[in-house]
Amino acid sequence: VPEVAEPAPDAQAELEAVTISSRDRVIFPESGQTKGQLADYYATVAPLLLPFAAARPISLVRCPQGRAKKCFFQKHDSGSFGGHVHHVPIREKDGGSEDYLYTEDAAGLLACVQMGTIEFHGWGSRVADVEAPDRMVFDLDPDEGLDFEAVKLAATDIRDRLADIGLASFAMLSGGKGVHVVVPLTTGHSWDAHKDFSKRFAEALSMAEPERFTANMSKAKRTGRIFIDYLRNQRGSTAVMPYSARARAGAPVAVPIAWAELAGFADAHPFSISDTKKLLTRARAKALAGWGHAEQALPAI
Ligand code: ATP
Ligand code: MN
Ligand code: MN
Repeated sequence: VPEVAEPAPDAQAELEAVTISSRDRVIFPESGQTKGQLADYYATVAPLLLPFAAARPISLVRCPQGRAKKCFFQKHDSGSFGGHVHHVPIREKDGGSEDYLYTEDAAGLLACVQMGTIEFHGWGSRVADVEAPDRMVFDLDPDEGLDFEAVKLAATDIRDRLADIGLASFAMLSGGKGVHVVVPLTTGHSWDAHKDFSKRFAEALSMAEPERFTANMSKAKRTGRIFIDYLRNQRGSTAVMPYSARARAGAPVAVPIAWAELAGFADAHPFSISDTKKLLTRARAKALAGWGHAEQALPAI
């Protein structure tokens, strides 16, 4: 259960050790939030975000001139993040190894924000053993124009099919267009098994209801359907982390929700970085206690 606490005094000191320059730079031109406001958002929600994102290899969406200008996805270190952002060497397919980024604390998050980061995406495994996935995500990507009601129904159907095979799952509004159904897993299986399970699960759904679902990422096959993006579950892929801001109009955030709340949302981006108070209050609510946590192994099917 993630603990929602005020930053400890030493964490406070660390936060103050990271200088955010150009605090008045507008990062979200449509809604006006600045780099300083983004940094304050992350400093405040760090106790909510870190239980999921800390000690996991991360990729960053950086938009140094704001979200409407050039943004880029950064996986590897450029050596410029300072001491609060750490490196983990990860074996590459070609046999070599590359340093990936990870953070352990709020200061690390802020060091990334200082470098123009808006979004934090994480691997499905932790730096302690990057070969041991502990998090499966079904990223529901609706075809353009498809009603959000269809996405909500798809998410609860997936929850039910997972429950049929003994797996608890949790819903997250992506802050964009879709819902992520998150399945925490104990380690002990390989990346091959992880990806294979998610692929077969997505394919079974699309075969049972081809008019609603596709497990094929091609946009042509998506017409009027929801792509069940299981490809987040392969070694090296990432998914956006809970409470990450999104580099989209209005400064929305990815937000964990209780299943019972899902029906009440009209879209996948109801909260923004300006809603920190609401988000902190929500996170303390009983309905969200234990979100994203379950002791369960990948079924052997
Ligand atoms: P939405 O609900 O709008 O689909 P999303 O976060 O699910 O939001 P996707 O486009 O479906 O966005 O992407 C799913 C995941 O793929 C992202 O969370 C991210 O981790 C990863 N991803 C997105 N863009 C890139 C990229 N350029 N390079 C590598 N991985 C990416
Ligand atoms: Mn998606
Ligand atoms: Mn996707």
